[in-house]
Amino acid sequence: MANPNSRSSGNPGFSTLAVHAGAEPDPTTGARAVPIYQTTSFVFKDTEHAAALFGLKEFGNIYTRIMNPTQAALEEKVAALEGGTAALAVASGHAAQLLVFHTIMQPGDNFVAARKLYGGSINQFGNAFQNFGWQVRWADSADPESFENEIDDRTKAIFVESLANPGGTFVDIAAISEVAQRFGIPLIVDNTMASPYLVRPLEHGADIVVHSLTKFLGGHGNSMGGIIVDGGTFDWSRSGNYPVLSEPRPEYSGMVLHETFGNIAFAIAARVLGLRDLGPAISPFNAFQIQTGIETLSLRMQRHCDNALAVAEWLSRHPRVGWVNYAGLPDDPNNALQQRYSPNGAGAVFTFGLKNGYEAGKIFVESLKLFSHLANIGDTRSLVIHPASTTHRQLTEEQQIAAGAGPDVVRLSVGIEDVADLISDLDQALART
Ligand SMILES: *Cc1c(COP(=O)(O)O)cnc(C)c1O
Repeated sequence: MANPNSRSSGNPGFSTLAVHAGAEPDPTTGARAVPIYQTTSFVFKDTEHAAALFGLKEFGNIYTRIMNPTQAALEEKVAALEGGTAALAVASGHAAQLLVFHTIMQPGDNFVAARKLYGGSINQFGNAFQNFGWQVRWADSADPESFENEIDDRTKAIFVESLANPGGTFVDIAAISEVAQRFGIPLIVDNTMASPYLVRPLEHGADIVVHSLTKFLGGHGNSMGGIIVDGGTFDWSRSGNYPVLSEPRPEYSGMVLHETFGNIAFAIAARVLGLRDLGPAISPFNAFQIQTGIETLSLRMQRHCDNALAVAEWLSRHPRVGWVNYAGLPDDPNNALQQRYSPNGAGAVFTFGLKNGYEAGKIFVESLKLFSHLANIGDTRSLVIHPASTTHRQLTEEQQIAAGAGPDVVRLSVGIEDVADLISDLDQALART
């Protein structure tokens, strides 16, 4: 298949950036791989140098909670892959979301989020954020007008997932971006499930991208991480609505961040006012693991998509399977959006229904041998979960169905193994249902 990401001349293509961006040979030792700078702190040249660093007059390393060369290599790579101006790597996807909202919200403000989100994000927005006085309002990701209806003069942003977890539905980013632009607020897109190999939200009008690096970017199920990518597109001065960026900062002798830092002001603010004070730094070791994982992102992601499509097609013909919800299937209601936003494939995660319901779900999950039964996605290994007996078991059956986690629902995250082995494992487990 022709790879629409590859470019003929001039700008490097996606796979070249995945290998090379942010990964120059180490200036002091010549080391070719990105070194793990396993240090808490960095020596100043003299007091003047120290003063310049602390005053944001010069960029440089002070302390690993704020900045570190291994983290910087990861940040440069992901910013290049997303087409952003700068990035900030942090301890987890949830930490990235916390720092994004900390940079733009004051107590009493609100934001509008798509209802179809990763369950952990629904909890973070609905519970923990309430304690900061940040209110979330929910909208329907398939209906841009429903976002508009929730916006008032305290609304500071719109938040959606490009490919929504766990249902695997693509969102019309351009249509929702049009609403955000009309109201002068930024569109924040969680691109975890798609990865920049499949979807680059900044090209469709998003202003900020966040990721859980824990999933497809790291890709091997071994390291937690998160990242914020600054699109450099939003004018933070416009309405005076974002005082962290547009008002003089007492911590930095009256500096106005958007004036001093222009199209990287958001990433700087999230680092020097968010990460510095709240503290969820990523360890240099995890930054190293994740940046190494990203070098093979194109290969892994294409294999994930090809395997997932083959598995979805096979399941849709199986007599024990009631339905399959995968945007890559030609008759899926989400197929047109997939073709438009993600022509390389429909991702690795999808749900399907077992004809024999709840008990069949439990038996199925316990009978699989290659698929690991756990609550994660985006590993090289194939993963499975039966939400009704695990993540959604506290809910009533009605609530489970509303959340897309009814008693018959199984979620797969298809790995990069040989697809024939995956299908034969599914086949023997389905035979027991
Ligand atoms: C996992 C996940 C998160 C949270 O990331 P952590 O690294 O687990 O904190 C956020 N959004 C999506 C879509 C996810 O899948």
